Amino acid sequence: MRLKHGACTDVGMVRVSNEDAFSAEGELFVVADGMGGHNAGEVASALAVTTLRSGVRSGLRDPSTLRELVQQANTAIYTASLDDSAQAGMGTTVTAMAVIPGEEPRVMVANVGDSRTYIFRDGRLDPISVDHSYVQELVNEGIITREEARTHPRRNIVTRALGIDRTVMVDVFTQDVRTGDRLLLCSDGLVDEVSDADIARVLAQHRDPQECAEALVMVANTNGGRDNTTVVVVDIADDISAPVDLPPDDNDTEEVTRPGAVLVAPERTKRRISFGMTLFWSALVAIVLGVVVIMGVYGRSGYFIGFTEDDNVAIWRGRPGGVLWFNPTVDTETGLTGDDLPADILRDVVTNREFGSSISARKYLALVEQVIVDATTTTVGTTTTTTGG
Ligand code: MN
Repeated sequence: MRLKHGACTDVGMVRVSNEDAFSAEGELFVVADGMGGHNAGEVASALAVTTLRSGVRSGLRDPSTLRELVQQANTAIYTASLDDSAQAGMGTTVTAMAVIPGEEPRVMVANVGDSRTYIFRDGRLDPISVDHSYVQELVNEGIITREEARTHPRRNIVTRALGIDRTVMVDVFTQDVRTGDRLLLCSDGLVDEVSDADIARVLAQHRDPQECAEALVMVANTNGGRDNTTVVVVDIADDISAPVDLPPDDNDTEEVTRPGAVLVAPERTKRRISFGMTLFWSALVAIVLGVVVIMGVYGRSGYFIGFTEDDNVAIWRGRPGGVLWFNPTVDTETGLTGDDLPADILRDVVTNREFGSSISARKYLALVEQVIVDATTTTVGTTTTTTGG
């Protein structure tokens, strides 16, 4: 049995630190979601991953060795929390998946808490692990449905975690696998933001497991990213005789598959913050550009009357005073000055009366000119009459 995998972790859109950790290497895959103040969550999840990773070197034969290994991780975290008061009460969830050596292709899945392992086969997504959470208990009792549990206000309460007590109960599941199966390990940051149906859709869309893991994290962030999200995708590939279908040679793949590396959250977080920030800044730049375009269109859309620098009455294009750096420009300049204008029209020019179009502004000025001509004629007529009388 040959495995191909991809992995991605991200701090999300709200949290300031990533307390998730994961390992994806060889035939052991782990996701841990830490909890506790003063970065203690990061310590707990990293300890879970490193304990499992170092334990696997002495051999993972069967479900009971995996269970013992998870219990060792519990002891390591519990002891560390007693040794350092800053880390008191720290804990972590863990879901771990490993291949069971033997003729039959099978995997084992250990679980404590609400990180999950799913199997995706023939377009169907089914959980292998069962959460240790308050809402899972409500589901078990038939009080709420699985879908209701996903958005329940108390969905983040875990009823079991590593590091809290001296001992811990570890559930271990076994699962037959075959070529084409895809396994998904994830923290609750994914399942809280993305429905099982949408997770299945993304799993089906991306052939490459690394692209798939990154796409899932992207969807969680797009939907809110209110928690850290960690995703490990493991494909059960053809046997060794089949041609090797290498994933694209990019940095992510390089880092994830580097032999001997234990990838825990602190190392990954640094790089992944920039991923979240890139998304944030791109959105911000898009919004600012949109506003500028709208303001520009608005700023250049109208017409008004006012004086030019030479004190001539003119039709201006734009908005009085300008909008942002979109200043009005002279559209049509007349030979009229303020002295030519009757008081009411002068007020219109001084207060920059606005018009919807160049035509209506011209009509108004034509009227103004007519009024001035009429007034002049009347005056002349009167004068003539007076002189004549
Ligand atoms: Mn979480």
